[in-house]
Amino acid sequence: MYKTLVLNVAELWLKGKNRPLYFKALKNHVKSVVKSHHVGEYSLRNEQHRLVLRLENEATEELIKGISCIPGLTSFTPALTVEVDVQAIMPAVRRELDKLEGQKKTFKVVSKRVNKSFKMGSMDLSQHIGGEILKEYKNLSVDIRTPEVIVDLKVLDEDIFVSTRTIQCPGGLPVGTSGHLVSLLSGGFDSPVASYMMAKRGCRQEFIFFYAYPFVGEEVKEKIISISKVLARYQNGCRLYVVPFGDVQNHISKHCKEDYRTLLFRKYMMEIASMLADKIGADALCTGDALGQVSSQTIFNMATLDKASKHLILRPLVGHNKLEILDLARQIETHDISIIPHDDACALFAPKHPVIRPHLKYWEHFIENNDVTEILEKALNEAEIYKFNPKGEILS
Ligand code: ATP
Ligand code: MG
Repeated sequence: MYKTLVLNVAELWLKGKNRPLYFKALKNHVKSVVKSHHVGEYSLRNEQHRLVLRLENEATEELIKGISCIPGLTSFTPALTVEVDVQAIMPAVRRELDKLEGQKKTFKVVSKRVNKSFKMGSMDLSQHIGGEILKEYKNLSVDIRTPEVIVDLKVLDEDIFVSTRTIQCPGGLPVGTSGHLVSLLSGGFDSPVASYMMAKRGCRQEFIFFYAYPFVGEEVKEKIISISKVLARYQNGCRLYVVPFGDVQNHISKHCKEDYRTLLFRKYMMEIASMLADKIGADALCTGDALGQVSSQTIFNMATLDKASKHLILRPLVGHNKLEILDLARQIETHDISIIPHDDACALFAPKHPVIRPHLKYWEHFIENNDVTEILEKALNEAEIYKFNPKGEILS
């Protein structure tokens, strides 16, 4: 029913001279989402400080959902378009409000007149249309503060947009404007949320999963693929590298003190992720660590890993509580995938008393005397690579 989507951008207006770059990135993302969902012609233009997407065919709910995942947009409204004439507004408003089928609701009208040749001002227009609605719809009453329905009118030079639905988006910055990350994705709740946080700060990302085959089954890999499909919607598509990690784990657990296993696994995960970053030209790494959540995430362990890492490690969840992370996981739709139980190789190798404050002497001694570069390189070279489009479909 809607062929026009009015997109609202947030921080981009603040970007001064760089604004065109940000808009270009945002438009590219919107265009790829439209192309992967919509069959037909479309246009995407800046119309008087609004990004307006006009479609040849009606927007499907799938497309609407796709657009709701685009960082850099704060919200958007699917709108009916009418000519610039007060008389043309009520028929469109009726089309929207008739859908309520007589349900009792509160409403308000919000108008924005950008077209200065339109005779009525914003306030007058809201009052006029509000009055018409009250006359015709006995089920509706006005509530200025917390209305259940907002009738949104935008008067531009060429059209008036009428809408009653606002869809929230992630906000923040368009993907690709803040650098390129390798994000470590595991099967839990945290790392997908961490990736989402960095996507809405404008980072493009590739995912890496360390697959402890043959110590764990195939299900965990399928789970990571499902999570990547969801995350691809926030990233304008992505790649997932599934790195065989069993040999590395085997080697480390044979040679190190039991207490240091988990931390050393993490170190070598970071090292492979760094190798990948070098290979693809990424700028930093990202993990789902939250301070103190498990024993491997103490401040001492994080500091030790930071010192050993060639690349900056971003940990966007470091100050988040578990419940906050779970709420976000529900919101971005990774929760129900993450909750599926899976084999965890780290648990299989888990020491009884994992180190929480590593002795630097032992740590450095182990690293100096165990050159695993070849094993790490082999693991990365044997990675399986999956590519996802912005809709979250696997490309072969
Ligand atoms: P998550 O919920 O993200 O799985 P977690 O609470 O289970 O995290 P850890 O297992 O200690 O915590 O992992 C901390 C972070 O290290 C993860 O968020 C992820 O970024 C990374 N990580 C851990 N295991 C793997 C793995 N097998 N492959 C890729 N990254 C991993
Ligand atoms: Mg985990």
